[in-house]
Amino acid sequence: MSVLLGDVGKTEGKDVKKLPCIEEGCVRCCTDSGNPLELTTGDILRLCRALSIGSDDFYAQYCGIMWNRIPGTCLFIPSVGLIFPCRFLEGGRCAVYDVRPIHCHLFPEGLVVNNSNMDIYRNCGYRCIDKGIKPAMTNKPYIHRLKDIDNRELKATASYFENFNYCVEMKEEEFKEIESLLTNVDYMEKAAKERDMCTEIINRKDKGRAESIFMRKLALLSMSKSFGVFA
Ligand code: SF4
Ligand code: SF4
Repeated sequence: MSVLLGDVGKTEGKDVKKLPCIEEGCVRCCTDSGNPLELTTGDILRLCRALSIGSDDFYAQYCGIMWNRIPGTCLFIPSVGLIFPCRFLEGGRCAVYDVRPIHCHLFPEGLVVNNSNMDIYRNCGYRCIDKGIKPAMTNKPYIHRLKDIDNRELKATASYFENFNYCVEMKEEEFKEIESLLTNVDYMEKAAKERDMCTEIINRKDKGRAESIFMRKLALLSMSKSFGVFA
């Protein structure tokens, strides 16, 4: 059985909510469609269990195929992501906070401890980042532990979906065309618009192939043993 993030907190005798959002009223990282959120197989199983629904219903209600460009190439790789604005947002709060996806837990502290480039998030409505977040030293072991779990879950997820087999290639001139159409677009909206435009082109090329394969695999997920890094 997969380890729940809640269980990770409990085994350490700590509250899993120990990385609360520091800016009351901000929902930027739950709504920014330019920076959507990939789900791991562990996330999907945990949320399905909490919501008492099957993985196929879960996908239909909350998810979509998310295409991410492989850096340095024109290839886009599909994965299962939450539709943004996230459908778990209720009245500006997360309705599944205790069992939220691991990448929700890790934002933005996971980026900070990783020394990631935070500039791409600056001045686009991410209040915690604009404020200059610094994780407390006492939280660092917890964040590193979550990152280890995340790495293992991402590997297990890639191995289960075999998503590298379903990449779609865009042409250089298609990127250039998109760039030229976005020259006057506001910085905050640019990533979202660019993602939408790329997705439209990719969907035309892919013709729903990746989604139908992923949906078949999702329907079998709860029966599968192959993703079980924590089995
Ligand atoms: S961007 Fe930062 S402050 Fe805003 S909701 Fe996300 S974690 Fe909270
Ligand atoms: S699951 Fe919760 S924390 Fe994660 S994006 Fe959705 S509303 Fe935000």
